[in-house]
Amino acid sequence: MRARPTLLEGQDMPDTSSEEVQRLFKAQHAASRAQPDAPLGVRRERLLRLRSLLEQHAPTLAAAVQADFGMRSPRLTEVADFFLLRAQLASTLKHLARWCRPQKVRTPLYLQPARAWVQRQPLGVIGVISPWNYPVQLALGPAIGALAAGNRVLLKPSELTPHTSAKLADLVAQFFAPDEFCVVQGGADVAAQVASLPLDHLVFTGSTAVGRKVALAAAAHLTPTTLELGGKSPAILDADCDLRDAATKIAHGKLLNAGQTCIAPDYLFIPKGSEAAFAEAYRAAVARLFPYFEGNPDYASIITPRHLARLRDLLREARELGADVQELGAVPGSPAAPQQSLGDGIARQMAPALVFGATGDMRLMQEEIFGPVLPVIGYEALDEAVHHINAHPRPLSLYWFGNRQAVRDEVLARTVSGGVTVNDTLLHIAHENLPFGGVGDSGWGAYHGEPGFVRFSHAKPVLVQSRFSAGGALYPPYGARFDRVMSVLRKLL
Ligand code: NAD
Repeated sequence: MRARPTLLEGQDMPDTSSEEVQRLFKAQHAASRAQPDAPLGVRRERLLRLRSLLEQHAPTLAAAVQADFGMRSPRLTEVADFFLLRAQLASTLKHLARWCRPQKVRTPLYLQPARAWVQRQPLGVIGVISPWNYPVQLALGPAIGALAAGNRVLLKPSELTPHTSAKLADLVAQFFAPDEFCVVQGGADVAAQVASLPLDHLVFTGSTAVGRKVALAAAAHLTPTTLELGGKSPAILDADCDLRDAATKIAHGKLLNAGQTCIAPDYLFIPKGSEAAFAEAYRAAVARLFPYFEGNPDYASIITPRHLARLRDLLREARELGADVQELGAVPGSPAAPQQSLGDGIARQMAPALVFGATGDMRLMQEEIFGPVLPVIGYEALDEAVHHINAHPRPLSLYWFGNRQAVRDEVLARTVSGGVTVNDTLLHIAHENLPFGGVGDSGWGAYHGEPGFVRFSHAKPVLVQSRFSAGGALYPPYGARFDRVMSVLRKLL
């Protein structure tokens, strides 16, 4: 482990200079070319170091996340950041030897007795640009797949979580040599520089708008990308679903991290006529999960005043255009907001809202909400929900609640989304044997588990010719011998 002075609590690191970004990239690039493959032992040892980093420093990282948000429970960071990373590490360490093994393939008769296999090799240097909402999981998650596949990793975490990014930079520098894994810090300019490096692959997690810029920058070097983007993920309640249970699960999926979750249910379709019953069930569920908001340590702050102002603006516009905006209040008798300041995070704890009567001309139904606001739309026939979804950019996730398998299968068959959870929200992201990613405007390429390992590897086909091969019979000069052999080969297909 390399010694490096530890940062003082709360101390930010300065932006990485453009010369330093270049220097780090060149060092990683040179190392990846000097040792194009990484033996299984080296890969395992890097993952074990990453696991030690998490085990030893989870509390400090959770405190940094808390400091960045103002209010954000370390237990939320434990479940949504660390637990997912631990699960990813455990599964990767368990299966890595098998994933790394050359994959033998059957050789068609016309090429026999040659043998063939697919050898998975590191791509080289993988850039990772990550967002602020789950700032540890989304920074280190792609790194797990990339390191498992034997690559070098250059990470640029979000500038909106400066404490977490500084802590990550410090810890990664303690646990890894800079030509194995390093962190550069800064805002959009540093991120844009990373996206324009001649990387061997770039994983970007963030908004669709910035994802477009990243894809353009990467194209200049033909750098392949994995784009993990956002969008409006719908939820649909079937007529026969358990309304109380569905409302609780939607409230949990919507309000985890105060709605600042890429796969949060963005808006909800319910059978027309059940609006009042749903509103009651949702209010009751929210009251159980978060009896009060301001000063509640379980309820996350909106990340910045600018993000809070945008959300308030979405509600203001929806109201002005005629929607019924119902802001949820604290349960009577719940603790009063603390008098002494717990930090400015309290001012950014936004009360959840339900919105009925939202229409397509409202920004609320155009932009990804990314906050604790749930538009609820009534439908007469399932077709209306399906048409709405198919008329809009393909969502990152879709949620369906009900018991009728035929209806579930119809929704699955007639919609395309990055992923789906049935009768709950969010959970497909936690299943290590499922690929996680978007489709269309919500991104491309998936990672987690073996799909991530494959994504960050080059699948190199290898064919080994036999000395008993008869392939020379097809060499020129072409004539009767060629025709005879070719007619035999055609019969083998
Ligand atoms: P963002 O796009 O504003 O920023 C993400 C990262 O991109 C940051 O590190 C930022 O510095 C960097 N960046 C800014 N300009 C850049 C440029 N020109 N070139 C390259 N990089 C640049 O996103 P955000 O606000 O941090 O995160 C919220 C968004 O991320 C939401 O849309 C959410 O849905 C999405 N998201 C998606 C996933 C997923 O797995 N699909 C996960 C979390 C968040």
